[in-house]
Amino acid sequence: MTTPEAEATARRRDEADPGHRHLFHVPPAEGGRYPEAAYLVGNSLGLQPRAARSDLLAELDAWATRGVTGHFSGDRPWVPYYRSLTGPSASLVGALPAETVVMNSLTVNLHLLMVSFYRPAGARNRIVIEDGAFPSDSYAVRSQARHHGLDPDEAVVRLRPRPGEETLRTEDVVAYLDREGDRVALVLLGGVNYLTGEVLDVPTITEAGHRSGALVGWDLAHAVGNVPLALHDWNVDFAAWCTYKYLNSGPGALAGIFVHERHLGDPTVNRFEGWWGTDEATRFEMAPVSRPPATAEAWLISNPPVLAMAPMRSALGIFEEVGMAALRSRSERLTGYLEELLDEITPTRPLTVITPRDPARRGCQLSVRIGRGGAAALTKRLSTEYGVLVDDREPDVIRLAPVPLYSTYHDCWRAAEALARLVD
Ligand SMILES: *Cc1c(COP(=O)(O)O)cnc(C)c1O
Repeated sequence: MTTPEAEATARRRDEADPGHRHLFHVPPAEGGRYPEAAYLVGNSLGLQPRAARSDLLAELDAWATRGVTGHFSGDRPWVPYYRSLTGPSASLVGALPAETVVMNSLTVNLHLLMVSFYRPAGARNRIVIEDGAFPSDSYAVRSQARHHGLDPDEAVVRLRPRPGEETLRTEDVVAYLDREGDRVALVLLGGVNYLTGEVLDVPTITEAGHRSGALVGWDLAHAVGNVPLALHDWNVDFAAWCTYKYLNSGPGALAGIFVHERHLGDPTVNRFEGWWGTDEATRFEMAPVSRPPATAEAWLISNPPVLAMAPMRSALGIFEEVGMAALRSRSERLTGYLEELLDEITPTRPLTVITPRDPARRGCQLSVRIGRGGAAALTKRLSTEYGVLVDDREPDVIRLAPVPLYSTYHDCWRAAEALARLVD
């Protein structure tokens, strides 16, 4: 593992299976022997596509030279600008274009979608989440329960893995829904868990939720651009995702939503409205009552921020070019390689991979539990002494995400080698 031969093997794999690193800026290493960072934190903030700068400059120039007329004139008028992101977003999540739109940020979108799809009625008032849900999702559902006059400690049900296990079993989620689903108004789970990297079985759980009479929404923050998705065919009611992780759209970039076709144009589905969600043909008639289109655009509220959307054009365009199938297959090879390397070093050290071993049940991220804790200190030393960027979730988990678009086998080798040397 720490030998020159092992490193040469990693280099050879990179030659045989190169990825698309040349399309991105890779930050310099903070320490160690190599000029570039081994960037394994694309699950937190994806790298900047090289084309993002000119996309952004084009809109700054349009603003400088056109002023307000830029809304309707030029190569890419701003009023319909957001639509250029709809097609690429829809193909990433397996949706019809009418079912998706880019808007706001992720947690805001979860709230807006819960306004529409969390409709507690009598005893059917629960929201089911994972106990290991991302905190923002947990805060969001608890505040939604309070908004409906419910006690969040009762209305929010947190599903836990079995004692001694790290990840949820699909059969346990399904069994809960079969048993108590008549009390459940909404199931809202993460497609890929942010901490363990586990992929949940979206179609099976969605079907079980529907069987029990609940609506089922998904947070795809760690799933989109990481694993293939087919939201329309899976009958998912709604979903939301951010675009600054695997979609490389920039810090705090706009998020996406999906609403299944069967809910579009349904007058019984309530929404919080604004002028961007009214029919565009009559928007500037300034009428007092909205006329929403029968598409996901009905959920739009404000005019979308063009400067924030500009880098998304090239970022999402890369996925169109490369294709999720090719990415997923390189992802399985790359993560499988990192797993092999970790398997060489973990048996003799207090390190345990907590991500599922079955490639079908994980994306690109592997999470490692550090037996003695101190994840933050280890993360810092990996960066300052080896130029290896991972992140930590206190107290004792570090996450390593070789991203198939730009990470290399050599990055994986550097991470495993540095871990082996530091945890001895
Ligand atoms: C990253 C992430 C968020 C972040 O929410 P923002 O509203 O984008 O700040 C929320 N939920 C999950 C599951 C995440 O992974």
